[in-house]
Amino acid sequence: MTILPAENTTFPVTVELAVIGAGACGAIAALSAAQAGIETLVLERDPVPAGSTSLSAGMIPAAGTAIQAAACINDTAELLIADLMGKNKNRADPALVRAVAQISGPTVDWLTQDLGIDLTLVEGFLYPGFSRLRMHAPPRRAGVDLVGDLTSKFSERNVDLICDAHVTGLYADNNGQIYGLRFRRPDGTEETIGCKALILACNGYGGNAQLVAEHIPEMADALYFGHPGNQGDAVLWGTALGAASRHLTGYQGHGSVAHPHGILISWAPMMEGGFQVNQSGRRFSNEHLGYSEQAAEVLRQPAHAAWCIYDEAREAPMAEFADYIQAKASGAIKTADTIEALAETLGLPQDAMRQTVTEVETFISGTAQCPYGRDFTGKAQLRAPYKAVRVTGALFHTQGGLVIDENARVLRDDGSALPNLFAGGGAACGVSGPEPSGYLSGNGLLTATTLGRLAGLAAARQLGRVKPPTER
Ligand SMILES: Cc1cc2nc3c(=O)[nH]c(=O)nc-3n(C[C@H](O)[C@H](O)[C@H](O)COP(=O)(O)OP(=O)(O)OC[C@H]3O[C@@H](n4cnc5c(N)ncnc54)[C@H](O)[C@@H]3O)c2cc1C
Repeated sequence: MTILPAENTTFPVTVELAVIGAGACGAIAALSAAQAGIETLVLERDPVPAGSTSLSAGMIPAAGTAIQAAACINDTAELLIADLMGKNKNRADPALVRAVAQISGPTVDWLTQDLGIDLTLVEGFLYPGFSRLRMHAPPRRAGVDLVGDLTSKFSERNVDLICDAHVTGLYADNNGQIYGLRFRRPDGTEETIGCKALILACNGYGGNAQLVAEHIPEMADALYFGHPGNQGDAVLWGTALGAASRHLTGYQGHGSVAHPHGILISWAPMMEGGFQVNQSGRRFSNEHLGYSEQAAEVLRQPAHAAWCIYDEAREAPMAEFADYIQAKASGAIKTADTIEALAETLGLPQDAMRQTVTEVETFISGTAQCPYGRDFTGKAQLRAPYKAVRVTGALFHTQGGLVIDENARVLRDDGSALPNLFAGGGAACGVSGPEPSGYLSGNGLLTATTLGRLAGLAAARQLGRVKPPTER
């Protein structure tokens, strides 16, 4: 990833706004700017837009949406701010958290009401740290549907898209002003294009083993479950241009990836009374702290594996999830009528499993306390038929990145903004702080959608367009 001298360079074509990356952030940024009348071009290295967004469950947290109001859920940006800052232990930039929370509801309303994207409320369980039901997702709970729906709007909304366009260099002057970019085609040929402003929506560095080893050594050997094209280009370009980066140790992990099937298993059963055991048939953690920090917990267990234990009632909320349907079809989900039979199927010690289940029953009834501090009270006892899935911990995406302001403008160490550079989604430092435990469920798409929206609108303003009517 290179910074190229802009002096004496001419471009065959110059667009007003270029966006690198066609995941949720890039697509939303481009659609927002184009709606304001900006000539917008998205460059995507893959033959078809996908990104980590398409691997995700498409769950977008947002507060105060019309969808929530219709379900009589009283949620506000203030509640979301409190949940975010509680999870990140006040270690994320409060101004950015506020900006993200405040535009989260209007962004989802814009997606559903203006663009006509089909999102529904995820009901049946609360994610760790959530004070309200606020996950909005495509009906199949599949991020691939979100990317497809967003990019299908490009032509009618005047967004140009070039796929198979791997951006390898930015043309800039000594002040960090961007003039254009260079991209490589699959056959190795290179092309250039000029731009008046640039949005980096090319996610973080989860796919770059060297950067992960440098900043997140605990996950250096972990399965990377995100999009391989996310090589840290935004951080590398930004810092070369004099931008500040922050919280590069932060990441989203997940402690529940079916292994060896490689399919995400929702954390829903863990939130409703399910639990994880290791190969000794013993619990080893407080599963309610969050699935992100649970990745490292699971990886610390023998064989880097754990088993999620739940039952048919806890399975019900996942019945519509595309990933879970796939996990069932691939045989990852085991079922048995007794705990002993389940233990035998899983190859776990029966006595220990029986003892663990009996202990959990006492935590649920309140006659004993969970040694890891989890509150099981109020949950129903597990009932046959019992369910289980073998899982491992994985790295999903990085949470650190380029420092930005509330308009997604990329900042230098001294707090000044680079002249015409914006970043959002995984390219920017997010709202999780420096630790994996700071990741509140959905922070990935929260910052992809809201910062994409903020970046697109701010770029449009900078390029001289009036505030679009849908901006609130
Ligand atoms: C399995 C899984 C499940 C998840 N589920 C959820 C969820 O339900 N809710 C949630 O909030 N988060 C979830 N996440 C995290 C979420 O997917 C990401 O945080 C989010 O998709 C990031 O969006 P983005 O637009 O920043 O990046 P991406 O969607 O990754 O898009 C970046 C794009 O940039 C392209 N690109 C990169 N470099 C270049 C370059 N040099 N030139 C051209 N193109 C380039 C890539 O090919 C890619 O298409 C999940 C992650 C995983 C891995």
